[in-house]
Amino acid sequence: MTTRGHCFCGRTRWEFEGAPTWSCYCHCDDCRRNCAAPIVAWLGVPVRRFRWLGAAPQTLESSKGVRRHFCATCGAPMGFEADHYPGGMHLYAGSLEKPETFTPEFHVNYESKLPWLQIDDDLPKYTDTMLHAPVSLRDYHTDDSA
Ligand SMILES: [Zn+2]
Ligand SMILES: [Zn+2]
Repeated sequence: MTTRGHCFCGRTRWEFEGAPTWSCYCHCDDCRRNCAAPIVAWLGVPVRRFRWLGAAPQTLESSKGVRRHFCATCGAPMGFEADHYPGGMHLYAGSLEKPETFTPEFHVNYESKLPWLQIDDDLPKYTDTMLHAPVSLRDYHTDDSA
């Protein structure tokens, strides 16, 4: 199965094979400001099953070891990589070719949720980052899934 996504203007595109490793909402201030959105829906995929298509994105090293990719033409956020998530590419559910097919599994940084944002799902809500959510990132490093 190939999943594809693209930016606002369509010049920067990506695709990956297989299922995402995880799918979540993040409420942290960094995601919020980077996307100018009250909440950001993310999916994580192994870099080895991911590739850029179309125009190459531009990359901002927003802090040491953190690389944020965005479309060089329209500026849309397109991807996130960090030294503390080796082997993983984090993508925005809003960039999916079919965002309606996204299935969020949990929330992270829930303690930073904006008070006016109403959330009534039954998903697990973690107060801390992905690093502390009980999600296996083993998929980033193994070759047995595709
Ligand atoms: Zn674009
Ligand atoms: Zn975040």
